[in-house]
Amino acid sequence: MKLRFIIQFSLLLAIPLLAHAGLPQSLPVPGGVAVVPLGSASANGGAKPQAWLGKQPVLVTVDNGSWYAVVGLSLDTVPGAHSLKVSMNGATQVQHFEVHSKDYPEQHITLKDKSKVDLSKPDLERAEREIALIRNLKRHWRETHDTDLMLELPSGGELGSRFGLRRFFNEQPRQPHAGLDVAVDTGTPVVAGGAGEVLAVGDYFFNGKTVFIDHGNGMITMYCHLDQIDVQEGQIVAKGQPIGLSGKTGRATGPHLHWSVVLNGAMVDPELFIPAKPVQSGQNGTQEMKQE
Ligand SMILES: [Zn+2]
Repeated sequence: MKLRFIIQFSLLLAIPLLAHAGLPQSLPVPGGVAVVPLGSASANGGAKPQAWLGKQPVLVTVDNGSWYAVVGLSLDTVPGAHSLKVSMNGATQVQHFEVHSKDYPEQHITLKDKSKVDLSKPDLERAEREIALIRNLKRHWRETHDTDLMLELPSGGELGSRFGLRRFFNEQPRQPHAGLDVAVDTGTPVVAGGAGEVLAVGDYFFNGKTVFIDHGNGMITMYCHLDQIDVQEGQIVAKGQPIGLSGKTGRATGPHLHWSVVLNGAMVDPELFIPAKPVQSGQNGTQEMKQE
């Protein structure tokens, strides 16, 4: 009994400190990921628990003999106590976890061409339609046996604007940067960050030519501003498989890849899923006008 307590207690302690082979980095902040332990995978016949954050199902995976809920926390998550609904062997329980605050850097940009800040009515209507469509794609849920949570950077290049950057154009606050930019010239190969199925391809006002890959269990990656798309909806892709070429389509000031990672409908920091953290670099000069 005592030994069991010590093992469980040390497991809990180890979670924020140790990088697990199969789990992303646990960073329970707005825009981060909470890795919440759900107990031993050998107990109760080993049936996989199900978990929900509000009404949204959450990814559950096994690592080192224990179940974990891997919870995406949107940038507008309020720091403090949060809870998951967990269903295990027919019983439903509440699992609490804490979200800490994080101050993301700010970026202030002055744009002389006001037409790029204030959209025309048709542009605004198109953008709003697409934002609604993209919101639905991000909430897509396809149950799969497991999801590889270790992703690879989809394109070689220096990192530009990081996830969470709070942007102001002519002092007007814009949506914070909900992805990671990689500085690459037009025509650079872009690969799937992980294995999955192409959920959608499209050409959007802000994001330009975009590929959505569904990795199963609520994990979706987005590749934006592409010059060329080489996959189609429903296609199965392997990790590292080329899906298109980078570019500057949509509202981008220069060629770069914008990469987003979505978990249970929340845009989260892609760098939490890259096992060996890429070399840090300065802010790159290119960015989107706005990113959903
Ligand atoms: Zn971006």
